[in-house]
Amino acid sequence: MTTTAPTIRPIGVPGTEPRRLENFVRGEWVVGTGNGVDLFHAVSGAKIAEATTSGTDYRSTVEYATRVGGPALRRMTFHERALMLKAIAQALMARKDEFYLVSAATGATKQDSWVDIEGGIGTFFAYASRGRREFPNERFYIDGPTEALSKGGSFVGRHICVPLEGVAVHINAFNFPVWGMLEKLAPTLLAGVPAIVKPATVTSFLAEAVFRAMIETDLLPAGAVQLLCGSSGDLLDHLDCQSAVAFTGSASTGKMLKASKSILENSVRFNMEADSLNYSMLGPDAAPGSPEFDLFIKEVAREMTTKAGQKCTAIRRTLVPEGMISDVMSALKKRLESITIGDPSIDGVRMGPLAGRGQVGEVRKSVDAIAKSAELAYGSLDDFAVVGADRERGAFFPTLLFYAKDPFGSSAAHDVEAFGPVNTVMPYKTVDDAIELAKKGKGSLVGSLFTADDRVARDVVMGTAAYHGRLMLLNRHSAKESTGHGSPLPHLVHGGPGRAGGGEEMGGVRGVLHYMQRTALQGSPTTLMHVTNEYTPGADRTLDRVHPFRKYFDELNVGDALVTPRRTVTEADIVNFAGISGDFFYAHMDDIAARDSIFEKRVAHGYFVLSAAAGLFVDAAPGPVLANYGLESLRFVKPVYPGDTIQATITVKQKTAKENREGQVPQGVVSWDVEVRNQNQEPVAVYTILTLVRRKGTGE
Ligand code: NDP
Repeated sequence: MTTTAPTIRPIGVPGTEPRRLENFVRGEWVVGTGNGVDLFHAVSGAKIAEATTSGTDYRSTVEYATRVGGPALRRMTFHERALMLKAIAQALMARKDEFYLVSAATGATKQDSWVDIEGGIGTFFAYASRGRREFPNERFYIDGPTEALSKGGSFVGRHICVPLEGVAVHINAFNFPVWGMLEKLAPTLLAGVPAIVKPATVTSFLAEAVFRAMIETDLLPAGAVQLLCGSSGDLLDHLDCQSAVAFTGSASTGKMLKASKSILENSVRFNMEADSLNYSMLGPDAAPGSPEFDLFIKEVAREMTTKAGQKCTAIRRTLVPEGMISDVMSALKKRLESITIGDPSIDGVRMGPLAGRGQVGEVRKSVDAIAKSAELAYGSLDDFAVVGADRERGAFFPTLLFYAKDPFGSSAAHDVEAFGPVNTVMPYKTVDDAIELAKKGKGSLVGSLFTADDRVARDVVMGTAAYHGRLMLLNRHSAKESTGHGSPLPHLVHGGPGRAGGGEEMGGVRGVLHYMQRTALQGSPTTLMHVTNEYTPGADRTLDRVHPFRKYFDELNVGDALVTPRRTVTEADIVNFAGISGDFFYAHMDDIAARDSIFEKRVAHGYFVLSAAAGLFVDAAPGPVLANYGLESLRFVKPVYPGDTIQATITVKQKTAKENREGQVPQGVVSWDVEVRNQNQEPVAVYTILTLVRRKGTGE
C-alpha cells in the first residue's frame, strides 16, 4: 500500500483520466492493492475510476477508531460536536460546485444532485442546530424525568445516555452517495461515536470526493471517520458489543449481514433500511378537477422520475378509487410523456440514467416479475428515446407504468421493488380496501394520501400507520409548502417496519440516541444531582447569604437555592389582579359560583401565584441576570385561598453556557426549579424558569 497526498481530484469530468479511489484508514489516504472494481460514467459508460480496499487491515481500522477516534470525540460536549458539524457543513457548502461536477457522473440531474449534495449537507446543519438546542452542553444526555422509587423520596431513578465506546459502521446504498453518508454521520458524530463509512462501490467516487473535503477541513479529531471504497472485507467480524451498524441497501444483503456471527454474538446494534414498496393513495373525494387530484398526479410522476426512480422512498404502488382509474391513467401518461430522458447536462433533459449498467439488468428483472401479474399501461423497455447519449452504453431506463387490475391477486406488484422509474397503479373500491392494499407492502418507509377529507386522513392513518415509518397527508392547504412524499427529513424518523428493514434513522434526538447506551441510574436525589449536573427534587440545596440573582453564571452551582420571605394572599390581591389582568373568572370573583365549584370558595388566580412568587424571589437591582425568557412544566398543584400564606424556593436546576457571539454579552442559560408552598408546606405551584445570566470577565 502507498500513501498519497489528500487533494480533491475531479473524477468523471471530461478530460480527466480514470484513477484509483483511495481509502482513508488510520488517519491516512491509502491506495488499495490488487485488481480494482471498474467504475463507469452512468451517462457515457466510460470508465472513470476503480475501487479496491485490498490490503486493508480491518482489525486495526476498528481498533484505531475505538482507541483514537472514540476517546477524542467523547472528550467533547454535545455543543462542541454540534459546532464542529456546523463548521464542516459550512466548509462543504463552500465547495459544493466541485461535488456537482463529480455527481454528474452518477447520472444525476441538477435537481437530483441538489437533493443528494445540499440535502446531505443540510442534515449536518440540522443536527448542528438541534445539538445545541436539544442537548445539554455535556458529554451525556438525560432521558426523561426523575422517577420516584420510594415513599420518602430518598431513592429515585433517572435515565442517562452515554456514547457507545466502539465504532459505527455505515454501509450505504448507491443511490445517494452524499446524503446517505452525511445523514448517518451527523447523528453518529453528534453522539460522540467514530464512524467507518463504506459507500456502495458503484458511486463511491462521489462519496470519496465529499469525504476528502471533510478531512481537509481539519475539524475532525483523528480517528473520528474512516472511509472504505470497495469491499468491507471481514470488518464486521471485529465489532464488539459497543459497536453499531447502520445499513442501507437490499433486504437480502441486509438480512445476511444482520445474521453475521459477530453481530449476533456481540448483540451489535444493527439498523437496517431496505427495500420498500411505498404507496400513494388518492382519496375518494379527490375527483378530477380538484386540487388534490392534480397534486397527486404531479407527485406520482415526480416520484417516478426524480433520481430515475432510484429512491428508497419513491412511490411504487399508486392506489386509486376504481371510478377514477382512467382519469388517473391518462393524466399520468400525459405527464410522463413530457419527461425527456437523456444526458442531464443537456437542457430540457428531466431524467438521467440509472447508476450503472448493472442496475439496468436488476430493474429489468424486477419489471419482468411485475409484468406477470400487471399489464404494462405506459412505456416500453425496448423503444424509448434518449437525448444526447448512447442508450446502450449509458445506464438508461424508460419510465414504465403498470396497471394491476386485480390488486389483491397481483402479488408481484406488492412484493417486487423495481428500483427505477417504475410504478403500478391499482384500483380500490373502499377506503378499507385501500388500507388493506397499502399493508400488502408488508412494511414500508413511507405512504402518502391526497385528500381534502380529514376523516379519510384519520382512517388511513389509523389503518396504515403500524406498517409505515412516515405518512404524508396532503391537501390544497399544505401542498405549497410540502417537502414531498419522497424526502426524508432530519427532524422526522426515516425507516420503516417489516420489509423496509425495521430500522429508524434521524428523527432529531432519536437518531443520536441510536449510538448511545441508555442506562437507568438509581440512588439518592443528591447523588444523582451530582452525577447528572441537574438538580433533582429532594436533593440537598445550598443556601447562601448572597442572593443567587447577584451571582454571575460562573459563580452559580447546581443546587444553589434561595428560600424567600412569606406573603399572605388577601382578597384585595385577587380583586387587584382581576382588575389588572381582566380575568374575572367566576372561581376568583363570584362568591356563589365559587362555592358551587370544585374549589368550594373563591381562589387566587394561578397567574397571581406565579407573579407573587416572582415578586418574592426576584432581586430588583441591576445585576448579572439579563432576562427571564421562559417558563416550563408549570403545574398548579393546589388552590390558594385568601388567607393562605405562600413562600417560594428557587434552586439552580441546570446551567448551559452559550457560545460567544460577536456583539452579544457573554452569557449562559440558567434554569431554576421553582416550588411555591403554602403555610402547611404543601406545594401549590411547581415549575421551571429560564434566565439568561451574564458570564464573568465582561468588564462589569
Ligand atoms: P446491496 O444490498 O447490494 O448493497 C448495499 C450496500 O451493502 C453497498 O454498500 C454494498 O457494497 C454493501 N454490501 C453488499 N454486500 C456486502 C457484504 N457482503 N458485506 C458488506 N457490505 C456489503 O444493494 P445495492 O446498493 O446494490 O442495491 C440493490 C437494491 O437495494 C436496489 O435495487 C434496491 O432494491 C435496494 N435499495 C434500497 C434502498 C433503501 O434505502 N431502501 C436504497 C438503495 C437500494 P458494494 O457496493 O461494495 O457491493
